[in-house]
Amino acid sequence: MSPDDAMGHDLDCGDVVEAVYLYLDGELSAEVIDKIRSHLDECSPCLREYGIEKEVKALIARSCCETAPDALRASIVSRLEIVRTEMTVKFRRD
Ligand SMILES: [Zn+2]
Repeated sequence: MSPDDAMGHDLDCGDVVEAVYLYLDGELSAEVIDKIRSHLDECSPCLREYGIEKEVKALIARSCCETAPDALRASIVSRLEIVRTEMTVKFRRD
């Protein structure tokens, strides 16, 4: 057990947020979904902080065959917008 470390650091928190967007559009490969999942396992604060960890995990858990119900999808998207804005603010301090 070794490449675990590299895997876990493939995505940072911002990447995960972007990836969840793509996921909602059905544009993620199973491989990337896997990376998101392991990132969330190791780095739960990133989404928990915004109160969307559970939703995103629920979303990812249903994975391949089903598309997300509209309500779940809408609630995640609206919160992701907030997360995105906050991250942008955080990273760009003029
Ligand atoms: Zn994170």
